[in-house]
Amino acid sequence: MKNSQIKSIKAREILDSRGNPTIEVELTTDLGVFPASVPSGISKGKYEAVELRDKGKRYQGKGVLKAINNINKIIFPKLKGKEVTEQKKIDDLMIKLDGTRNKSKLGANAILPVSMAVCRAGARAKNLPLYQYISHLFLKTEAKNLPIPCLNIINGGAHAGNELDFQEFMILPQLKQLKKSTGVEKFNFKESLRIASEIYYELKNLIKEKYIDLAINVGDEGGFAPPVRAPEEALDLIMEAAKKAGYQNKIKIILDVAASQFYQERKYKMKFGIFTSEGLLRYYSDLIQKYPIIGLEDPFSEEDWEGWRKLKSKIKNQKSKVLIIGDDLTVTNPERIKLAFKRKACNAIILKPNQIGTLTETIEAAKLAKSYGWKIIVSHRSGETTDCFISDLVVGIGADFIKAGAPARGERVVKYNRLLKIEEELRI
Ligand code: PEP
Ligand code: MG
Repeated sequence: MKNSQIKSIKAREILDSRGNPTIEVELTTDLGVFPASVPSGISKGKYEAVELRDKGKRYQGKGVLKAINNINKIIFPKLKGKEVTEQKKIDDLMIKLDGTRNKSKLGANAILPVSMAVCRAGARAKNLPLYQYISHLFLKTEAKNLPIPCLNIINGGAHAGNELDFQEFMILPQLKQLKKSTGVEKFNFKESLRIASEIYYELKNLIKEKYIDLAINVGDEGGFAPPVRAPEEALDLIMEAAKKAGYQNKIKIILDVAASQFYQERKYKMKFGIFTSEGLLRYYSDLIQKYPIIGLEDPFSEEDWEGWRKLKSKIKNQKSKVLIIGDDLTVTNPERIKLAFKRKACNAIILKPNQIGTLTETIEAAKLAKSYGWKIIVSHRSGETTDCFISDLVVGIGADFIKAGAPARGERVVKYNRLLKIEEELRI
């Protein structure tokens, strides 16, 4: 196509929401300049693609100048003049240039921002909104659905300085409206976000009342980090806040346990108790009975396949199905997802582009999960930028959910706000 060849790629070191260096690129074609930046996780899966860091003194070793050099000296010379609408060809070329299984040569943090910027430039070349372009390119259909947001309103684990072991307490306002013409229930993202915000405000008041003012400090993803230890205490706070806001029966809950973080010597060593895999399974069963929990993310360690399998087989016989969600377990990697399917470990996955390093592989992971009938939650990372690519991605691939933190903090709300705009465009 005319005017849509890569003319230049400029990469620079910027800071993420935790203040750590990350990469922003600007890719230029005759049609404009297309930016993209990548996030960074802290509770990472062992099998994620490698995020290249400089080591040494600068930024306490966290600088990304080597990865930037890889973009300038290795990636750009090979991509110069390439057609931006050839997403797969370009991603495959970068995978080949890297040549390792886990992108440890060039760094997933060097490859992914280029992959994302290429996609943005491709959307412009085809004159389509990014979400429609993604949908056409990979699924050959029109995007039409908004995801249900999973808003992380209480933070613990590696994302906060409190004593809560579980990492994320997410609410899902599942508001549906009857569409007059068809009688079909339609999900309304805007209303869903409003409900979550109102619960977030009530939660703030509640925490202030119960503890001291300091307790309303927030964690890395913008959720509160109150001085509680047991998951039930956090869940009770959420249920009370939802009740005060008038939405007690309108929310569901997903917990990201991030259990790999406290798995040692085949035990789950948490501050509120030490559990065997069997003991933790029983604990989850009780929690599910008591609270409107519809999903457990990383309920067991990435090494504890037996724990995953038993939980999955237990919920199989229950009336209301709970989502058993792989994150550190599956790391957006088609090979790990196939393994999880074979071992009957989960029925849903977290999709994080930077766990695997290219857009093409991310979509391949999503397609695979869909072919198993699994649900998909597109996700941000705890260290974020203001790039909202994942909002277009979630709509483009027609995924069920998005998790992007609390309904607060710029790097989180930019994702939700982009979805508000997409919802308007899709409704017109
Ligand atoms: C997660 O574990 O789902 C998460 C978003 O955290 P991080 O980005 O720190 O891996
Ligand atoms: Mg997780």
